[in-house]
Amino acid sequence: MEQPVKRVVIVGGGFAGINLIKKLSKDKRFHITLVDKNNYTFFPPLLYQVATAFIEPSNISYPFRRLFQKKHNLRFHMGSLKKVNPEQNTIETDTGIVEYDYLVLAMGTESNYFGMEQVKANALPMKTIDDALNLRNHLLLNMEEAVHTNDMKEKEKHLNIVIAGGGPTGVELAGMLAELGRNIALKEYPEIKDLRSHLYLVDAGKALLGPMSVKSQQEATRILLKLGVKIITNTAVKDYRDDIVYLADGRTIPTNVLIWASGVIAREVPGLPATAIGRGKRIIVNEFNKVHDTQNIFALGDQSLQTSDTKWPNGHPQLAQVAIQHGDKLAANLIREADNKTMEGFVYNDKGSMAIISKYKAVVDLPKLFFKGFGAWFIWLFIHIIPLIGFRNKVKLAFSWFWSFITNDPTLRLIIRPRKEDVIDAKPRVEAAKELTS
Ligand SMILES: Cc1cc2nc3c(=O)[nH]c(=O)nc-3n(C[C@H](O)[C@H](O)[C@H](O)COP(=O)(O)OP(=O)(O)OC[C@H]3O[C@@H](n4cnc5c(N)ncnc54)[C@H](O)[C@@H]3O)c2cc1C
Repeated sequence: MEQPVKRVVIVGGGFAGINLIKKLSKDKRFHITLVDKNNYTFFPPLLYQVATAFIEPSNISYPFRRLFQKKHNLRFHMGSLKKVNPEQNTIETDTGIVEYDYLVLAMGTESNYFGMEQVKANALPMKTIDDALNLRNHLLLNMEEAVHTNDMKEKEKHLNIVIAGGGPTGVELAGMLAELGRNIALKEYPEIKDLRSHLYLVDAGKALLGPMSVKSQQEATRILLKLGVKIITNTAVKDYRDDIVYLADGRTIPTNVLIWASGVIAREVPGLPATAIGRGKRIIVNEFNKVHDTQNIFALGDQSLQTSDTKWPNGHPQLAQVAIQHGDKLAANLIREADNKTMEGFVYNDKGSMAIISKYKAVVDLPKLFFKGFGAWFIWLFIHIIPLIGFRNKVKLAFSWFWSFITNDPTLRLIIRPRKEDVIDAKPRVEAAKELTS
């Protein structure tokens, strides 16, 4: 007898959600609805290049509906999750109610400001395409304002850039901004002498690239110092108000730009049992990614906390590879269940990590090997083109990189700013920047 089709609702079309969909949609016993608050999927590891006007946002994003063309068992529901009702097997979104047989939560994380309200109100986060575009506008506007003012204190505030968080995102941003200072600012802003000496990278930990090898940490520090970046470690940002960053050791840095690349917290899902919420608001799951104290709800990727994998007793790192492998494994397990087979437990296959530091300079940590320099940089480029969705995106990105690297002169430094005067004066910085790009 033919089995009834199972309705699988996946909330979040990032690395985990999309990889689950790719595998599961091949099996016609499942009807899949993807719920996402955006109508596109995107590639976070390259956000910093959008923020620094190096590549276009369309190079790293792809619309869901285009991805689902000609797939009869796939639907897209644009909406933001508001609540889960496990008793009724429904979710509530801001655009309606959706019913499910299986629910999969893969909504990732948001910035964690550790309770610092002024930092939250005034710093610029780096989590989404919107954030990257806000940051791009803000940085470019700031340069224009630096050119106009003759007041040296004001100028200093406009030129200083503080990046909080010395992980891969902070390091990559610092390297790229230093390159911009070297290659663009001198040519296009003759009024500004040297931008590089105004770049600060601050981290509460004892070294940059905390989770990577000591060799990678040392190489990143060496190159950034050579590029003129001021590195402050063992020191947390404590506050940011009236255009002054306050550090835990008492130092202050006047600046109009605090970029927040420091710490994340899982996105909240109202309606789940309280017993299922763990450290960093991550959702506690078993070895099959089933949410604690629920029957048919699963959580994947950054949003989940899985301690069953013996090599990772405190949970997996919040990285793309974990999310991709979670998506693949859950697809295989749901198919196994439909075949009346038992599910298999998840084991993470750590393929290593890498970070780009500046042009032609990167570090790669493989499980038993470290390497750096041009070879590492080239591999980084290659590895970041392969997973992009869409052949056109891969070609466009390869061409953008080729052009930008050989000319040292990408051409995307556009400030899109409708109603600037109305918005900037009246609102805190982050809201104002959001309106400028809307
Ligand atoms: C700037 C940056 C750089 C990074 N660099 C690297 C790197 O170099 N290497 C690496 O391994 N990892 C990197 N990461 C981490 C990596 O991106 C994450 O580990 C990965 O994206 C997690 O995948 P996910 O599917 O769990 O969540 P995500 O990819 O974050 O996807 C979450 C999805 O949920 C959707 N969503 C969120 N809230 C809602 C809601 N309320 N309702 C509906 N939908 C919602 C979002 O729109 C998104 O599509 C980086 C992250 C950032 C932010």
